[in-house]
Amino acid sequence: MSAIELAGIGKRYAGVTAVDDVSLTVAQGEFLTILGPSGSGKSTLLNLIAGLTAPTQGRIRIGARDVTELPSAARNVGLVFQSYALFPNMNVAANVAFPLDVRGLERAEIERRVDEALRLVRLTGLERRRPSELSGGQQQRVALARAIVFRPDILLLDEPLAALDRKLREEVRTELRRLQRVLGITTILVTHDQEEALSLSDRVVVLESGRVRQTDAPSEAYQRPRNRFVAEFLGLANLFEGRLQGTGAQRILRTEDGISIAVPAPGDRSDGDAIVLLRPERLMIGGTGPDRLSGRVTDAVFLGQMVRYHVTLANGREMVAVANDSAIRHAHGDEVTISWDPGDAWLIPRDG
Ligand code: ADP
Repeated sequence: MSAIELAGIGKRYAGVTAVDDVSLTVAQGEFLTILGPSGSGKSTLLNLIAGLTAPTQGRIRIGARDVTELPSAARNVGLVFQSYALFPNMNVAANVAFPLDVRGLERAEIERRVDEALRLVRLTGLERRRPSELSGGQQQRVALARAIVFRPDILLLDEPLAALDRKLREEVRTELRRLQRVLGITTILVTHDQEEALSLSDRVVVLESGRVRQTDAPSEAYQRPRNRFVAEFLGLANLFEGRLQGTGAQRILRTEDGISIAVPAPGDRSDGDAIVLLRPERLMIGGTGPDRLSGRVTDAVFLGQMVRYHVTLANGREMVAVANDSAIRHAHGDEVTISWDPGDAWLIPRDG
């Protein structure tokens, strides 16, 4: 049985369809991320599952229960938001104990569970601190402890790392993934950060204007996007719009600006107009493969573990290539060839 099932769920506000006919099942123990730009309906979708917003259509099931009509408190979900929402005048232990106090558990049991939750988020020893005496990352770990202490069926996280600076964000991200694995708790995370989504999740759901554009494993969605929106949203993308010619394994996409790209057997779905995606890290600068283009380096950006090259082709088209390299090998103005393995050219339908 799936842990969560959404069947044709939708939410309309006056004039805006925030969530549009979303159907989705989440497996027990899965870490699913809802990814999309600002305003795409991510928070609304999470709030519908949490029971903080009522749907205008569709059903929601958590485990064996249809919870569509149930208030949030009856859904047994753990929630963490961007703002830690800790009680400032209560210490860490009291903050984490709060959901258990509300449920009327015995004192000894509360203490045992609070200790356990704090151990899980590695905050043992900080029980007596006030939230104001903690770093942002520690505060968010208190919020996490409070969200899991009552053993919810599912954990819902709305941009929990967004308020943290980069280093803390990575620290809490690692912590979150570890915790989720240890507990095996079904988790849905909302984020607009594609790197966060790709690094944390078993599957990502990409939303655009309230609609699901793709649901897939991160590597699948990144390497084999089903449409232009997903291709562009998940990372840097060299996209070539054109017409497909030829048949079978001999298919070629020709663009209006005179570029021809061989595409691997595209199956039966693609004919006529299409788009080819070449991810920047699949391109080899100075390579001599059969499929190549030439141009001039317009910028070489050193990023520590890699270098990003911006190359302008003779026809004016700009391309981006990323080399896994800790030194710049091609300077501004250098003539270079860009080549790739034909198998790395990914075909997207034009209307996708
Ligand atoms: P995201 O989380 O992806 O930024 P939201 O779910 O917050 O997106 O919002 C999706 C759309 O629904 C937006 O157009 C937003 O303006 C609209 N919306 C969200 N909440 C409300 C509300 N309470 N009343 C009216 N419109 C809303």
